[in-house]
Amino acid sequence: MPDTTTPLAFPGDPAYAAATSVYNLAGPARPAAALTATSVADIRAAIGYASARGHGVRVHTTGHSAGAAPSMADAVLIRPRLPGGVEIDADRRVARVLAGTPWNDVVEAAAPHGLAAPHGTSGTVGAIGYLLHGGVSLYGRKLGLAANHIRSVELVTADGVLRRVSAAEDPELFWAVRGGGGGLGVVTAVEVGLFPARDLVAGAAFWSWEHAEAVVGAWYDWTLRAPEEVSTSLRVMNLPDLPEIPPMLRNGPVVCVAGVALTASGAEELLDPLRAIGEPVLDTWQKCGPEAVPDIHMDPDEPGTFIGDHMLLADPGREGIAALLRLTGEGSGSPLIAVELRQLGGRMGLADPDGGALDHLDAHLAYMGAGVPELRGTRAEITGHCDKVRAALGPWDTGRTAPGFVKGLDRPRAHLSEAGIRAVERVRARVDPGGLFRGDAMPETVTAS
Ligand SMILES: Cc1cc2nc3c(=O)[nH]c(=O)nc-3n(C[C@H](O)[C@H](O)[C@H](O)COP(=O)(O)OP(=O)(O)OC[C@H]3O[C@@H](n4cnc5c(N)ncnc54)[C@H](O)[C@@H]3O)c2cc1C
Repeated sequence: MPDTTTPLAFPGDPAYAAATSVYNLAGPARPAAALTATSVADIRAAIGYASARGHGVRVHTTGHSAGAAPSMADAVLIRPRLPGGVEIDADRRVARVLAGTPWNDVVEAAAPHGLAAPHGTSGTVGAIGYLLHGGVSLYGRKLGLAANHIRSVELVTADGVLRRVSAAEDPELFWAVRGGGGGLGVVTAVEVGLFPARDLVAGAAFWSWEHAEAVVGAWYDWTLRAPEEVSTSLRVMNLPDLPEIPPMLRNGPVVCVAGVALTASGAEELLDPLRAIGEPVLDTWQKCGPEAVPDIHMDPDEPGTFIGDHMLLADPGREGIAALLRLTGEGSGSPLIAVELRQLGGRMGLADPDGGALDHLDAHLAYMGAGVPELRGTRAEITGHCDKVRAALGPWDTGRTAPGFVKGLDRPRAHLSEAGIRAVERVRARVDPGGLFRGDAMPETVTAS
């Protein structure tokens, strides 16, 4: 029976539809009850309701990771939307970000102070969900994993207590919440460090397929000696003929080099040789401030059914890169809309003695592939093609993953060592002995009980 003493919504209610809406429609959220929480009291009420009825508690913000979320059938889903958004302390170079805030709002608030935030390729991603998953930033090679910049976390734990954790306050929980795989409570706010950034060079350049081999080869060679001031991605994009796509990108696969350079010389060193190979069909790289950066990757803002795969790769050499192009480029018959190699290394590869459970990624590149059945291929065809790419890149698979990039429950994931998993589990057992949030913990990080 619906409980009239809490603001929870149930299947059929418009408020249920709002609280369960997700960006990735591949993983619709169907909890027993749901709540858009606008206060800590709301969160406590939902936890109390779930505890009293033997439900679990799940949390989501935007549903960007919905495709990888286990079933919520027996859970109460909390979607925090705490009013207030972002507060910037320019002197301390810190943003206090309330739950429910997307990166766009943080970037917009920080930019007038000449400050940038460690966000990724999409401004619509929730800042807190991203940070809790490590966060591979568009500035990552210079800054390291975004989670290393978290100064404090406020969360409501299973006992309904609002706690503030930091290096000085419950350092063990502070360690586990930063990349430990979730399932520790409902985070209500995070303080995250910002950094000075005014004169950036950022954008995306696209080449037609005739230049693909040369552009990709030159980009790959550059990654072997690239300065950490520049962070890039390389994508093979096979975009549909839709009005919202620039016309020059619609006909057949293109290759794209996108990213951010903190110095003009770093950008020139990357881009001059690439532009000399052939004229891009579209080139948006330009000087800009941090407010322009969330848009450069042109990630889709609208919800869709995104099915895909991810691996962290050791250096695949030109051989591995060529295999990827053969499977996803012109004439391949690939149903994938985009295949990406995100450049890692730099400080992203360095452990942080003050960091959390996930403080670095020990790999050369992050591979991501994605298809959208509404646009091309069936689910089975997309998954089948992802499996072919996985097999081709297998020799360079590190066996590790970046938690935010895993797209499906059926896809391998492994971001912590066995010792790391056990250490996070010890913290979970302390703060959530009854396993209320267990369903929210990434499956790989939960040892059999
Ligand atoms: C288009 C796109 C671009 C992306 N780009 C990048 C990128 O550049 N770098 C990168 O690292 N990742 C990137 N990601 C991955 C992204 O970081 C993850 O999907 C992340 O989990 C999104 O967080 P969210 O809160 O928006 O998602 P949700 O699906 O809402 O949440 C995911 C999980 O985060 C946890 N969570 C969210 N909010 C809270 C909260 N308040 N309290 C407790 N737990 C919470 C929950 O466990 C939840 O299941 C991208 C994803 C997409 C779809």
